[in-house]
Amino acid sequence: MSYEQIEVPDDGEVITVDEATGELVVPSNPIIPIIHGDGIGQDVGPAAQQVLDAAAEATGRSISWMQLYAGQSARDRYDENLPDETVDAIRDHRVAIKGPLTTPVGSGFRSLNVALRKKLDLYTNVRPTYYLDGVPSPVTAPEQMDMISFRENTEDVYAGIEWEAGSDDVERVREFIEEEMGYEDTIHEGPVGIGVKPISEFGSKRLIREAFDYAIENDRDSVTLVHKGNIMKFTEAAFRDWGYELAEEEYGDDLITEDELWDEYDGEAPEDVVVVKDRIADNMLQQLLTRTDQYDVLAMPNLNGDYLSDAAGAQIGGLGIAPGANLGEGRVLAEPVHGSAPKYAGQDKVNPTAMILSGRIMLEQLGWDDAADLVRDAVEATISAGEVTYDLHRQIEGGTKLATSEYADAVCERIEDLA
Ligand code: NAP
Repeated sequence: MSYEQIEVPDDGEVITVDEATGELVVPSNPIIPIIHGDGIGQDVGPAAQQVLDAAAEATGRSISWMQLYAGQSARDRYDENLPDETVDAIRDHRVAIKGPLTTPVGSGFRSLNVALRKKLDLYTNVRPTYYLDGVPSPVTAPEQMDMISFRENTEDVYAGIEWEAGSDDVERVREFIEEEMGYEDTIHEGPVGIGVKPISEFGSKRLIREAFDYAIENDRDSVTLVHKGNIMKFTEAAFRDWGYELAEEEYGDDLITEDELWDEYDGEAPEDVVVVKDRIADNMLQQLLTRTDQYDVLAMPNLNGDYLSDAAGAQIGGLGIAPGANLGEGRVLAEPVHGSAPKYAGQDKVNPTAMILSGRIMLEQLGWDDAADLVRDAVEATISAGEVTYDLHRQIEGGTKLATSEYADAVCERIEDLA
């Protein structure tokens, strides 16, 4: 593979996919594309690389990084925000990691993150939320949180099908809704913006399948389908129904419903069986706080997933900590939840934990669970020793305030100690 402006490392091998199983075939020295990103991406990107290199080395492997460009770094080189060869290189190499990209506020500038997810059909957003000892939290029992959110990434009200108030198009849509579909007296008179919320069987089932597979492979207790089906019957309730349908069609005895759990097993699930339940989204937001330990894997349409995963992330330490990844068929793009925080760019100040733990998800996807565990343990040991960046330091008593690069060094030292 060759590209115009991307340097391909000559000491690594390309990750492929086994056509029969759809599984990634990962060499011990894979080429992994990385986009440092805008703003604080230049701080957290290299810090994460350093830690992931240390974890790979400690487990007898190596990563050959391939630098890609998007956002400002792409404007400098290609005079565009998201060059085709950046997208192609991620597609070709299957597993990649990126830092945050700035989306200027105002019309005419599409989010590069959304564009990337669309172009690569990364239909699942995963966000693990687990507590790391020593992280300051706004709740009294943050250690009860050990959850992973699977959020649909391509449809719902985020599909981008909407019309501006006052436009000719919105008036045509209004007329169609009122006159052809019979919804008279539903939309108020005067200017109105209208959006469409598509939720498909295909999109719902492929997302929920990811959540079910994850729960089964990782011995999780339950998958909760989070929806607002009491109000939106043909979209959100359909998401729930397709979830139960999928469980029945494809998973047999591996999954049981909450009703079956009580009717047939008196509330005690047999070993190796995952319970499928559903909750209405507003209730779920309070259950996160009041019954945290009863939730395990969540499967959600796009909007619910956006709100729920941020709320869950806040309970275990917030943006500096929260990791994520986007998954498609045989493709992984890991990225932290936080943005580019431009006011801190280049100051060697911010917390790289979210980017490091996004890298941890990437390691898990490579099947390098030992390296992934090492990263988590080293991060936890560093934070619980009070060695933290400014954001956590301002919330704890005592402790040592470290720069981004010093924190990465501290985590790497722990990796060496723990290996
Ligand atoms: P943000 O960049 O996430 O920053 C908001 C605040 O969160 C920061 O001011 C800082 O709080 C805290 N923060 C974020 N990352 C941190 C870290 N690594 N360590 C410590 N604290 C951290 O959100 P924003 O200001 O709304 O967005 C800025 C730009 O990023 C926008 O252009 C937005 O579109 C973009 N964005 C990109 C992505 C992505 O690429 N996936 C995601 C979200 C936003 P304090 O000031 O309190 O210290």
